[in-house]
Amino acid sequence: MTIQADIAIIGAGPGGYMAALRAAQLGAKVVCIEKARVGGVCLNEGCIPTKTMVRAAEIYDLARQAAKYGVLTGTPTLDWAKAQQRMNTVVEQQVRGVGMLLSRAGVQVLEGEATFARPDLLAVRLEDGQETVQADRIIIATGSRNAQVPIPGLDGPRVVDHLGALRMPALPESICIIGAGAIGLEFASIFQTVGVEVTLVEMLPRIAPLMDVSISEGLEWSLGRRGCEILTSTRVTGIVHGADSCAVSVSGPDGDRTIDVGMVLSAIGRSPNVENLGLETVGLRPTRRGIAVDQRLRTATPGVYAIGDVAAEGPMLAHVASHQGLVAVADALGHPATMDYTAVPSCIFTLPEAGGVGLSEDEARAAGHQVATGIFSLANNGKAVAYGDTDGFVKVIADKESDAVLGVHIVGPHASDLILEGTLAIALESTLDEVEQTIHPHPTLGEAISEAVMAVRGRALNVPQS
Ligand code: FAD
Repeated sequence: MTIQADIAIIGAGPGGYMAALRAAQLGAKVVCIEKARVGGVCLNEGCIPTKTMVRAAEIYDLARQAAKYGVLTGTPTLDWAKAQQRMNTVVEQQVRGVGMLLSRAGVQVLEGEATFARPDLLAVRLEDGQETVQADRIIIATGSRNAQVPIPGLDGPRVVDHLGALRMPALPESICIIGAGAIGLEFASIFQTVGVEVTLVEMLPRIAPLMDVSISEGLEWSLGRRGCEILTSTRVTGIVHGADSCAVSVSGPDGDRTIDVGMVLSAIGRSPNVENLGLETVGLRPTRRGIAVDQRLRTATPGVYAIGDVAAEGPMLAHVASHQGLVAVADALGHPATMDYTAVPSCIFTLPEAGGVGLSEDEARAAGHQVATGIFSLANNGKAVAYGDTDGFVKVIADKESDAVLGVHIVGPHASDLILEGTLAIALESTLDEVEQTIHPHPTLGEAISEAVMAVRGRALNVPQS
């Protein structure tokens, strides 16, 4: 018998499960189909497990520096297996939590793989049979997977992806990480911190290429200072696998060379999951970027929406997927809403972290703004000094004529939390005065944001005058 629903959602990652919860909250009968585990890439193999390993690296780093704070401990060692055990426990807890939320909200979760039979009908292949789901509104939230690139040897035994890296039975002595986007950088930071020799190879001229250039420079400095070798404008041309190591051939500004490492991590990018969904049956032709959608997340086929990593609009981030889910559900249930990507924060969970929102300086200039910038170093922030964690800065980009805040970019401890203030400032179209007149608590890292805002007009206060 066909299951009838108001909304069917394919995929229970942060896009799909948040959409399901909101739809149920609005009174809809919701079916969510998931072929692997609820929580998607984010909870099972992405955001959450990597952050537990970032935390392990951070604590190891702090323990190593403990004497500086007057705390005397022995020399710390990292128990990689124990850190992995904790990671698995955290993931299980989060996945169970999402399962419980869905079930308490009354969402019917079907464990199976969905394919379109018609724009309002899904065939679901279950482990032990088949089911059909009819719904007038269907949301595709199938996410993405690691991109494949034709590098000889990339499919060899010493190459892992993010999941392979998290599950490595032991830490290698050295690793070459291909790709210096957020994922590559986070792993570079984890591994370098816990004593693995890291070589980071990026094809583009700078690491964190999608962020403001100040973030690329800040992270290059901090990773470099920790001993990470960073090769930019450099391509990996091949990998030859040996018994205990492999030779990675690279070609860059200084010519060709070979790097011998224990392992290689491929963090080259992500491809949308558009295969085996029967998209052609419902008239959808995805591109390499994914399924085209409008600002309400509607695809070209009436009644069918696409959100998250599989949608061709917006950055591939969990919070974007979730927000798109809420917008799609609102639209599907007759309360039209639109996506606005002006104030989407991006974070990189390195040590120190990075966070950016709004326009980069280059983007602001390209958009025709008369750009003014203010930078405030954490070396002048009392809380950062007290915590012994002063590597970093806040950079604010504003429009000279209107004084509107256009972008905020941060490197430093807790940058991923601090960036929220910049996000709110941009979402609310705040001016420099409005942020400056907001009282910031003392002593906090957040004071660096108000100082950077003041610095835009040359009136930061906690800066030694020359
Ligand atoms: P997914 O999370 O990919 O979920 C899609 C789900 O759909 C999957 O569970 C899949 O099994 C299911 N599915 C696919 N096809 C079918 C089908 N035919 N039938 C049924 N089910 C199907 N983002 C951040 O914002 N912050 C971070 O810190 C961060 N860290 C990351 C670290 C790593 C290592 C990686 C790989 C990614 C990270 N991301 C991060 C990105 C983030 O994980 C994704 O943007 C997010 O998971 C996308 O959510 P989604 O709901 O679109 O898809």
